[in-house]
Amino acid sequence: MPADGCTCDLCRTLCAFCEDKGRRTFEWPLAKDRRHHVHSRIDTAELPVTHVTRRQGRPYTLVLTKTDALFAREQEARDRDHADLEWLTESARTLTSDQSRLEDR
Ligand SMILES: [Zn+2]
Repeated sequence: MPADGCTCDLCRTLCAFCEDKGRRTFEWPLAKDRRHHVHSRIDTAELPVTHVTRRQGRPYTLVLTKTDALFAREQEARDRDHADLEWLTESARTLTSDQSRLEDR
């Protein structure tokens, strides 16, 4: 897997969560290797999202939470034409857009 850029289902779901302004948390039941992949994608892209694993049930649940700073920014953005959200949307898009460039080489 390339160090940056991935178009798998997990990353697309992660992008959708980041771009959904109406959601702050996302509880996502995932097996261990899939949780690890999502962790690494969040860390690599430096998304303003925290991730913790709730060790209950099977599989465990990965709980994603947008950071307070981000959420405050979202609240303000609703009053200001969502302009400040573009940086997050761009960050989320780099999760998938880098992959196509790699494939062009
Ligand atoms: Zn992926």
